[in-house]
Amino acid sequence: MPSSKTHLTVYFMLVAAASIILVNEGYLERISATYVGAVLFGAVYTMLPDIDIPSSKIRGYAAKTLLAVTLASLLAYATFSPKAILIYAAIISSLILYALWFARHRGFYHGKTFGLIMTLPLVFVSIHVMVFAAFGFLLHLALDGELNS
Ligand SMILES: [Zn+2]
Repeated sequence: MPSSKTHLTVYFMLVAAASIILVNEGYLERISATYVGAVLFGAVYTMLPDIDIPSSKIRGYAAKTLLAVTLASLLAYATFSPKAILIYAAIISSLILYALWFARHRGFYHGKTFGLIMTLPLVFVSIHVMVFAAFGFLLHLALDGELNS
């Protein structure tokens, strides 16, 4: 099983090679800050399938973020804005956190369905972000030898 460093290294090497080709062939005028942002976002998605491993870095970041969202939403609701959406945010983020607790490795989170659920909404952010995220996620599955399962 490749480590997260291997996944990231392969991702950045392939993206760098593709970027050089795109610039040389004239499909990409220059490497913009938006492009770099999309590439970095894709790097996060390269690690995303291993969110089901309790010791993985992405799991640690996700757990801290979800906990922070839960606490911040409850605090905001209690102190200055009693809006229902804050309660919903707290409930949803704590439910995701709870679901992660029971995730078994290479189950739902390490599959194409989860990748689709996490990638498709990014089209509302930017098509470039979505493409790099999808590439990062699928590359992870390919390196783990699980793209066809
Ligand atoms: Zn994996």
